[in-house]
Amino acid sequence: MSFDTIEEMPKKDKIAIEQAKELLKEHTLCEFCLGSLLATLSGDAPWELGRNMLELLSKEKGVVGENAIKGLSGECSVCKGLVPSVLPELINKALVSLSKLELDSFKSGTKLPADIVEREDELRARHGMWTAESLKVVINKYADEIIASKTGLDVKSDKPDVLVSFDFIRKEVEVIPASVYVFGRYRKLKRGLYQTRWVPEAEGTIESYIGDIMKAAFEAEDYKLHAAGREDFDVRMLGRGRPFVMELIKPRKRRVNLEELERKINSKLEGVVQVSDLKKASKKTVILIKESSSLMRKIYLAKVTVEGKISLESLKKLEKELSNRLIRQKTPTRVLHRRADLLREKMVYKVSTKPISESSFEMTIECDGGLYIKELIDGDGGRTKPSVSEILGEKAFCSELDVIDIIVPDELMREVEVHG
Ligand SMILES: [Zn+2]
Repeated sequence: MSFDTIEEMPKKDKIAIEQAKELLKEHTLCEFCLGSLLATLSGDAPWELGRNMLELLSKEKGVVGENAIKGLSGECSVCKGLVPSVLPELINKALVSLSKLELDSFKSGTKLPADIVEREDELRARHGMWTAESLKVVINKYADEIIASKTGLDVKSDKPDVLVSFDFIRKEVEVIPASVYVFGRYRKLKRGLYQTRWVPEAEGTIESYIGDIMKAAFEAEDYKLHAAGREDFDVRMLGRGRPFVMELIKPRKRRVNLEELERKINSKLEGVVQVSDLKKASKKTVILIKESSSLMRKIYLAKVTVEGKISLESLKKLEKELSNRLIRQKTPTRVLHRRADLLREKMVYKVSTKPISESSFEMTIECDGGLYIKELIDGDGGRTKPSVSEILGEKAFCSELDVIDIIVPDELMREVEVHG
């Protein structure tokens, strides 16, 4: 809207000007604060409405005209001049930071000092300003519009690539890239490797091996591995591998070629860790991967050593008695110091065996996720029932263990495909 005189205006705008006059009789207001109080009276952006009103009323005689002139120069009894003096500079800073990032979308957010919000509320209540929009929202819209027009980026309220956070308390702006999530499956080809970095003495872990390479590719600040369960330090993860999501925290790059990244990881980590199936994922994938981990069936290959001798008949008996059998397992003694003492009921679906020597054999076990295999074999002093030791009537223990497959539920794969 731009009119030179009040007489030329349509009715709605005349209401706006009357309201503006009322306000300026008592207060000095900047274009943002005045505009936000009158926001819904015009189809124009609130700050444009505010500026137009101030320009028109600056021609008036008396206190209204004086206050309008002060408002145009940035004086304001609500924000104390903070918004018009600081906002343009913060937007310029944000533009510089954004130019260093790879992104398609953003959204602005604003933190205002409590006293500004209080004065805004008070003024709104005192003058019955039903036409107001909050100053915070107006600032966000203004910043969104300027940044979008200068960069060509999309403004996206739902999961933007980057949050531009204006802090009027510290007079700072922070540009915060949202995490990037990459789904994949890893195979651990070497024993003696922890999964995550929480073990302080662990030098190389699955998380750090894969994470360091991904961090460099995405120019991220940090990373976090979210995996569907974990295997022990001395257990290999073979077959198609264990599903995981790597979260890249505050990445500067978002458009990394995942096929190339996969090749790079696999050539650098040859013989140690390999990844496959890398795809873009989401935060929801992380939740699903955690929730569905215990629902994923696992197939293990164990090398079992027995104190006595084994016979083919005893192995046949073992296969028969353990297949399609419900196992009642109390939390293993070896993890009791960090896990609650619970009773788990897990199914073993299928067991097959192959003798290696008089006192050792190979055993393939298909079972529910979350069943502890070492204890299924040795019995953990009666805490796992039944067990290989119990059925054979001989002390048995697991001398080597590999996970050879993890069967992933369709729901998880569908979620991954959506973002692929
Ligand atoms: Zn103001």
